[in-house]
Amino acid sequence: MFILHCTDAAGMPVSLRYAPHSSALTNLDGTPVLATRQVAQQPAWEDAVRINPGQPGLKAANPSVLKIQLGLGCNYTCSYCNQSSQVESMAMTRTADAQAFLHDLDKWMEGAPSEIELWGGEPLLYFRKLQVLVPELDRRFPDAEISMVTNGSLLTQEILDFIAFYDIRITVSHDGPGQHLRGEDPFDDPIRSALLMALWRERRAENRMIFSSVLTPANSDPAAIRQWFVNRLDDESVVTSLEGIVATHDDKALAGPGVWSNAQYQRLRESIASSFETGEALRIPALVQKARGFLQSAMEGTPSTSMGQKCGMDRSDHVAVDLHSNVLTCHNTGANAEHGLGSALEMDAIRLTTSTHWSFRECCSHCPVLQLCGGSCMYLEGEQFAQSCENEYQFGMGVLDGALRRALGLKLETIEGDIRRPTRRKMIPIVARQ
Ligand code: SF4
Ligand code: SF4
Repeated sequence: MFILHCTDAAGMPVSLRYAPHSSALTNLDGTPVLATRQVAQQPAWEDAVRINPGQPGLKAANPSVLKIQLGLGCNYTCSYCNQSSQVESMAMTRTADAQAFLHDLDKWMEGAPSEIELWGGEPLLYFRKLQVLVPELDRRFPDAEISMVTNGSLLTQEILDFIAFYDIRITVSHDGPGQHLRGEDPFDDPIRSALLMALWRERRAENRMIFSSVLTPANSDPAAIRQWFVNRLDDESVVTSLEGIVATHDDKALAGPGVWSNAQYQRLRESIASSFETGEALRIPALVQKARGFLQSAMEGTPSTSMGQKCGMDRSDHVAVDLHSNVLTCHNTGANAEHGLGSALEMDAIRLTTSTHWSFRECCSHCPVLQLCGGSCMYLEGEQFAQSCENEYQFGMGVLDGALRRALGLKLETIEGDIRRPTRRKMIPIVARQ
């Protein structure tokens, strides 16, 4: 149980009680703050499966979400990439393996997935593989939503036609004003820019494309990010979202853009919270989903026991495979080390031993933004987890503050309670002598 100390529009103090495990948000006298849903309308909560290395998760042969990793190669070298530490453990695959993958899919796959995600690396580096896979996946699973995240720098007219023909939902991963942390900006190249704009014009009509950015210390204002795309595309209707806040999957991220100063965290939280007051947050799907999810959980009394991990890869019906049909912890990992869980052809033997559900982490069980976060990355440990958790915590606090501002007109000032944070390494800035 936490006490949320807030101020109202007149600057007067208002305090609320909030229990993230029962999602009870009440006044200090125990009366609910938000209208609670009628019991008849409440969902029947099912307990999430709580995995850890000693209690491994299983994988199903009839996944609802199938993530296909084409390879971890990329033409960019983003400074905070969450895949770069995995590239050496990737099992190499060739275009011919795409055909073998489809052949094997017949042997292990039962039913039809509702979503098929095509992942790199940069998936358009593997266009020849896509030309083998997508037509056949589309034929076998006509009702499945096929989607892809790309950096948008390798488009050609042939690729545009292919995307349109198979109606692939596209997310272009681009950091807008903070793109320099990723590498070149395809908008700076006239030919690439023209193709990206053409893709946008073709896909936007059906809401089949968004731009999505990662929050970093150099790029922490979602409203400014969206405005950058509005200016660049000369289109007020542009939809931009957030992949989330930067995580620290390796030492490079821990030595650079994964680590924020207190002042940077403060700016992040205020820019997110104030974007809910101006209404700008309502145009950014990731912020809307987080805030709506929190408010909905408070109205429905969502128990934390029903919560899996934020990315869903702890679930048995979310399956990531490479083109050798190796089952992976997730699409960001390689099969030739601990994240290779075995062959999809022997799905019953797969054990997800690499990951830890949030409920086994002390900090998550004592966290006021648990319902907004969902436990950060399930396989990170040590300093990489601690820093990623801190980033998620600050992001969650900004959204929590914003949701309270928008829904209740209250500004979150401090939180009182038994908050436990993971221990982080003390970062000491090195200043060169003059
Ligand atoms: S912010 Fe950190 S402690 Fe809180 S739920 Fe997320 S990972 Fe767990
Ligand atoms: S396990 Fe989930 S959060 Fe972690 S890298 Fe994979 S998809 Fe991302």
